[in-house]
Amino acid sequence: MLRDQTLLEPALAHVHPFTCGVDLHCHSNASDGVLAPAQVVMRAANNGVRLLALTDHDTLDGLDEALACARQHRGLRLLAGVEISASFCDASVHIVGLDVDADNAALRAGLQRVRDGRAKRAERMAAAIEAALGVRGALAGAMRFAQNPAVVGRAHFARWMVEQGFGQDEAAVFQHYLNPGKPGYVAHDWVSVPEAVAWIQGAGGVAVLAHPARLRLSLKARSALIRAFAGAGGAAVEVVCSAHDDKAVRRFARLAQGLRWQASVGSDFHAPGKARFDLGGCPPLPPGQRPVWTRWLED
Ligand code: AMP
Ligand code: MN
Ligand code: MN
Ligand code: MN
Repeated sequence: MLRDQTLLEPALAHVHPFTCGVDLHCHSNASDGVLAPAQVVMRAANNGVRLLALTDHDTLDGLDEALACARQHRGLRLLAGVEISASFCDASVHIVGLDVDADNAALRAGLQRVRDGRAKRAERMAAAIEAALGVRGALAGAMRFAQNPAVVGRAHFARWMVEQGFGQDEAAVFQHYLNPGKPGYVAHDWVSVPEAVAWIQGAGGVAVLAHPARLRLSLKARSALIRAFAGAGGAAVEVVCSAHDDKAVRRFARLAQGLRWQASVGSDFHAPGKARFDLGGCPPLPPGQRPVWTRWLED
C-alpha cells in the first residue's frame, strides 16, 4: 500500500483509491504481452503506477526501451525485471526477478539457455498441435504473433489458433489444447528452481515466487518447492495478482506471514482487458504483510 497517499500527484487523482500504485509483474511484446515496452510504461504511468517492474518471460530485451520511456515520466520508477520459467516435479514454476543488473553475464547466459530450450519446445509443440488439429504451419503461424522471435510460447500459438478458428479466445484454446494433459501440450524441462534463484540473486535482484495459486503441484510437492526456493535464498511471494481471487490472496498472505517472507503485488498484465487487474490495478496487500518494495521507494 502507498505509505503516504499524499505522494500521489494531483494529475493521478482519478486513480481508484484502492489500487496500490505498485506493479511488479507485467509483460511487453518482448515476450508474450501485446504492447511494446514503451506502451506498457505509458499505460502504467497513466494508471498512477509509481513503481513498475517489467518482467518479460526469459528475456531482458524490452528493458532498454522501457527504461528510456520511464525517464520521460517523472513519478514513475521502473525496475529491471524478468520472469524465469523453471521446473519442479514436472510442473512449471515461474520466478520473478526484481531489480536485476541486466548486464550480468551469468543471468544473461542462463536466460539464453532457457530461450534455447523454449525454441526447441516450440518445434515439439507445433508438431503436437498440427497432429491434434490436422493442420500444417503452426510454428510459422505462432511466429507471426511473436514480436520477439527469441521468445515464442504458448500464448503465441494460442493467438494463431484463435485466428484460425480453433477457439473463441485464448482462454478456450488453452483449455482445450494447451494446458497440461491437453493434446497440444508438451512437457518441458526448463531450469531448476535453485538455478533460477541463483541467477537473479547473482545479478543483485530479489527473487519472488510468482502467482503460487497457479502451481499444479500436490500439497507435498508444494511444500518441497517452498523449501527448495527458501533453501536457494528466496524469501518473497506474490500475494496479490490477477491469478488470485480474494480467497487465494488471504491464503498466500497467511503463507507469507508464516514463513516471514516479503509479499509482492503484480498484475501480470499481458494485454488490455484480458485479466482481473490492468497495469497498476492491483489492490493493496492485506494488513500485516511486509511489502517487498520498501527498499525501492525509500531511496
Ligand atoms: P509458456 O511460458 O509458453 O508456457 O506460456 C505461458 C503463458 O501462457 C503465461 O504466461 C500466460 O501468458 C499464458 N497463459 C497460460 N494459461 C493461460 C490461459 N488459461 N489463458 C490465456 N493465457 C494463458
Ligand atoms: Mn505470459
Ligand atoms: Mn507466470
Ligand atoms: Mn507473468
